[in-house]
Amino acid sequence: MLSAVENPSPRAAQVPLRAAVEALPPYVPGARAAGGAPAWKLSSNENPYPPLPSVLEAVRVAAADANRYPDMYASELVEALAAHAGVSREQVVVGNGSVAVLQHVLQAVVEAGDEVVFPWRSFEAYPITVAVAGGTPVTVPLAEGGRLDLPAMAAAVTPRTRVVLVCTPNNPTGPVVHADELDAFLAAVPGDVLVVVDEAYLEFVRDPQAPDGVELLRRHENVVVLRTLSKAYGLAGLRVGYAMAAPRLVAGIRAVSTPFGVSHVAQRAALASLLPAAQAELLERVEALVAERTRVLAALREQGWDVPESHANFVWFDLGEQTTARAAEAMAAGVIVRPFAGDGLRVSIGEVEANDAFLKVAAGWCASR
Ligand SMILES: *Cc1c(COP(=O)(O)O)cnc(C)c1O
Repeated sequence: MLSAVENPSPRAAQVPLRAAVEALPPYVPGARAAGGAPAWKLSSNENPYPPLPSVLEAVRVAAADANRYPDMYASELVEALAAHAGVSREQVVVGNGSVAVLQHVLQAVVEAGDEVVFPWRSFEAYPITVAVAGGTPVTVPLAEGGRLDLPAMAAAVTPRTRVVLVCTPNNPTGPVVHADELDAFLAAVPGDVLVVVDEAYLEFVRDPQAPDGVELLRRHENVVVLRTLSKAYGLAGLRVGYAMAAPRLVAGIRAVSTPFGVSHVAQRAALASLLPAAQAELLERVEALVAERTRVLAALREQGWDVPESHANFVWFDLGEQTTARAAEAMAAGVIVRPFAGDGLRVSIGEVEANDAFLKVAAGWCASR
């Protein structure tokens, strides 16, 4: 007799995946070095500095409690983040990286088919999280210089729009929106449309005209601010992000969050990073990375590149059809960058030696233009 596997009945059809899931673009992580090959990893906007000794010690101690569930709502961490940002603890919700928090935000407010407006090109997690939440993506092209086109985004809002995503600085191009532009945008958008301001690179911003997400929260009930410990705080591998919003929205976001989403180890590492001495050290590192960004941008412009003004820890090259070939050349030279085929290429700011190695690659691209 044949087993069911060898002789599937014609009625045993495959389990259908949701159409939105079948259609998802893959999230392409930044490439890693091939086994053993020496390479600089400038493909994921990671912080090149290793964790502080005090943070590693917190991780070591916390690991001893791995048999226990973590504090479900990460109360101590929420308290510390609220104090850090100057909001109340009812206004903060944490998650397993701010991408997870964004997913929870969308799940809390998006009904099937609701429109979610976001700039493009922008963070590649946006189309994925929107589709997973059952939303209909509405993309708005970037303006000159890789900047968000906020007037066009406001004009894209329809009665079916539930959420607008504002990425500032924009990943992968780098510019920030200005506070006056964002004020005009918020005045144009109806109060029942949620505006998510993604400030993943906030600590790297040096433009005095940049908005302050927390200040926006005080004036607008429909704003959610997303922040993360992955970039400036160097904890990308431990997955801690958070959202700040009005308490009613925070309660809704919390209700759909994965239970125990942030591990005890991650909570303790984040708390150790927020202690004043650790924070001072971490922000010094950010300062050094900002200085490197200034140096790299100047060197690239010296080489003749027209790169956007970046306020994050990366730079963008609008290379169009040359993108894939250029990324392969960089890889061959030991520098791993992040190509977006047919569009452009993003290069993270890393160690001084890594940036030097990349500048050499970019000079070579120039020579062959
Ligand atoms: C890196 C990044 C994040 C943060 O992701 P985590 O899940 O917190 O690691 C969020 N938004 C943007 C635009 C980013 O580039």
